Amino acid sequence: MSISEVIHQTLAANNALDLVPLVKWEWNTRLTSTMGRYHPGTKKIDFSVVLFGRATQAEQDNTVAHEVCHMIVRHQFPHASAHGWEWKRAMRNAGYEPTRCHSVKVDRRARKPTKRYRLLCGCADGCIVTQNLITRMRKRGEFDANGVNHFRRCRTCRQSLRAK
Ligand SMILES: [Zn+2]
Ligand SMILES: [Zn+2]
Repeated sequence: MSISEVIHQTLAANNALDLVPLVKWEWNTRLTSTMGRYHPGTKKIDFSVVLFGRATQAEQDNTVAHEVCHMIVRHQFPHASAHGWEWKRAMRNAGYEPTRCHSVKVDRRARKPTKRYRLLCGCADGCIVTQNLITRMRKRGEFDANGVNHFRRCRTCRQSLRAK
């Protein structure tokens, strides 16, 4: 599922569709310690571009649900503890195992992770590509002055990829 689909499904399963307009999330290129993070203060969710690139679809879905459940619990039970029974129940309601830690581990000895960037297309979440691919696109002059790549399309929505 796409990130937006998991968000919607998790909210729906918890009778929290009223929170749809309040969900704010963004890709974080510097976050490497965890796949996702919910900030109760700003009410914003961050997802790690690097770790999402290494994770399976199931791990990605679980992470999105994990953070959305934090947001739901924060609204429905403001005094609940972060990974308490309220959060676990919200995860189970949405059909996910309430495991606290994501299984995509950061290997600190590994060489520098491949940098990834998000190009825009018709999909809500855009299209994640590696730094190497972006460099090749630029060398070949695939982007026009407006940042539109007329040589490559998103495999999902078939729209041209855009740098901005
Ligand atoms: Zn958590
Ligand atoms: Zn697309």
